[in-house]
Amino acid sequence: MNMPPEFAECDNLPHFLMQLGNELQRFLRFEHGDAMDEPELWQSALRGPLPEAGVGIGPVMDEIGRYLIPNGSKIPHPGFSSYITTGPTTLGALSNFAASIAAPQRLGLTAFQFLEEQSLQWLGEMLALAPHMKGLYSSGGSVANLVALGAARQWAFEQIGIDPARDGVLKPCRLYATASSHRTIHRAAAVLGLGRNAVVAIKEDRDGRMCGDDLQRQLVADTNSHYLPIAVVATAGTTGAGAIDPLRQLADIARAHKIWFHVDGAYGLPGILDPRVTPLYDGLELADSVVVDPHKWLGAPIGIGATFVRDRDILHRAFAQGAADYLEGTVSEEQAQSSLDGLGIPYADFGVELSSPPRGAVVWALIKEIGKAGMRERICRHNTMARGIAERARAHPNLELVREPTLSICCFRYVNAKVSDLNAFNRSIHRQLLRNGENMPSTTMLGDTLVIRPCFIGARSLEHHAEELVDEVIAIGDALSKNL
Ligand SMILES: *Cc1c(COP(=O)(O)O)cnc(C)c1O
Repeated sequence: MNMPPEFAECDNLPHFLMQLGNELQRFLRFEHGDAMDEPELWQSALRGPLPEAGVGIGPVMDEIGRYLIPNGSKIPHPGFSSYITTGPTTLGALSNFAASIAAPQRLGLTAFQFLEEQSLQWLGEMLALAPHMKGLYSSGGSVANLVALGAARQWAFEQIGIDPARDGVLKPCRLYATASSHRTIHRAAAVLGLGRNAVVAIKEDRDGRMCGDDLQRQLVADTNSHYLPIAVVATAGTTGAGAIDPLRQLADIARAHKIWFHVDGAYGLPGILDPRVTPLYDGLELADSVVVDPHKWLGAPIGIGATFVRDRDILHRAFAQGAADYLEGTVSEEQAQSSLDGLGIPYADFGVELSSPPRGAVVWALIKEIGKAGMRERICRHNTMARGIAERARAHPNLELVREPTLSICCFRYVNAKVSDLNAFNRSIHRQLLRNGENMPSTTMLGDTLVIRPCFIGARSLEHHAEELVDEVIAIGDALSKNL
C-alpha cells in the first residue's frame, strides 16, 4: 500500500515553518503592492478547475508564498485604523498555530484546557470584573453577545416559570440598548427568537451615551405590559465613537426593575486599564454578563471572544446539549490517569460550539508576554494617539473635532469655507487615503456629519502613525481645495 503523502510531511514541518516565517516577515514589511493593484495577476494564477491529481505540499506552499501572502490584507499594517480590527501579534499567531496542532480541541485534560480557565480568570482580573464572574471563550463578540443574551433570556423566563431552552420563547420580549449599540445585539435578538424588533432604542445624550432617564421612562412604560424585559444592554466603547454608557446609573435602574444587565465591551473593556478613563467603568461590577474581544485590543488572532456571566449554571441551563451520554468512559478528575480520561470543564455546554479550539492558551501567552503593564502601555498609547489627533484638530484652521475622544477613536474632519458639501469632500479625502495605503482610517456618520474615524488598537500602531494620518489628511484636503 502506498503511504498517503500527508503522512511524511510532518517530518518537514521545520522546513515549511521556516519558509512561511520568511514570507510572512517580508509581508509584514509591507513593501509589496495592494491586492487590488493588479488583481488579474493572482486571480488568473489561482483560478482553475477542481484538480483530479494533487501536486503535493511543496508546490502548494510555493503558491501560498507567491500569490496568497503578498495579496493578503492591509489589516495588519501599522497605519490601518479602520473599523475595530487588527492583525495578531507574533506570539498570538504562534500560540494559535501551536494549539491547532498540539490540542485541536478544547476538551480533554490537557495543559491547553487548563489554561482556558486560568486565562479567563486572568482576563477577568486584569479588566477588573467582579471576582465571581466566570467566563467562556467563543469565536468573537458576535457569538459572545449571543451567549450572554442567551443567559439573560434563560434567566428572565425562569423568573416567570418558563424554561425557554426547552419550551421556546412564549412571550414577546424586550431588550433595551441605544442606536449606537453594536448590530450583533440585534442579530442575537433575532437568533434567540426574540426578534430584531424586540430591541428598543433608548435615547442617547450628545456624547452618544445611553440616557438613564429615557431608560427609566421606557421600563416604567413597559411595566405590567405583555412584554417580558430580557436585558438592559450597555456598551462600554461604542463602535462608532468609543462612547461608554453610564454603567452604574444603568445598572441601578436595571436592578430596581429586576432586569439582567449586560455590558458589551468587545472593543472598549480593556480601556479600563487607562487610569485616565478607569472612572468611566464605575458600576461594571454590577453587570450580570460582560463581553470582551481578545482579538481586538489584546492582539489575539481573529476567532477569540469572551463572555463572562455571574453564574455559569445559567449558561448550562440555556445551552447544554441534553443528555450527556458522551461522558461515558470518563472518570472523575482525581482518578484520571490519561488526558483522555475526562473532558475537563464542560465549556461545550455553556455556549453554542461543540468543536472549538483551545483559545485560552493564546490569551495566556499574550498576557504572559507583556503582562498587565504591557497591555496598559498599549491601551494608554492608543488613547493618547486619539487625544493627540483631537488636539491637532482643535488647533488647525482646516480641521474640526466632531466628537471628543473617550478611548482610541477620534472623529474629525477637514473643513474649508469654500466647500459646499463637506461630507462628499471628506469622503474624497478618505478614498485617497485608502488608495495611498499608508494611513487607513474608516469613516462614520455622526448624525448627518461624515467624519474620518481612526480607531487605534493594533499592537504595531505607534504615535507617529497618528501624526502621519493627520498630516496626510491635511495634505490631501489642501490639494483638493486648490481645485475649488
Ligand atoms: C466588534 C464588536 C462586536 C462584534 O464582535 P466580533 O468579534 O466582530 O464578532 C460587538 N460589539 C462591539 C461593541 C464591538 O466593538
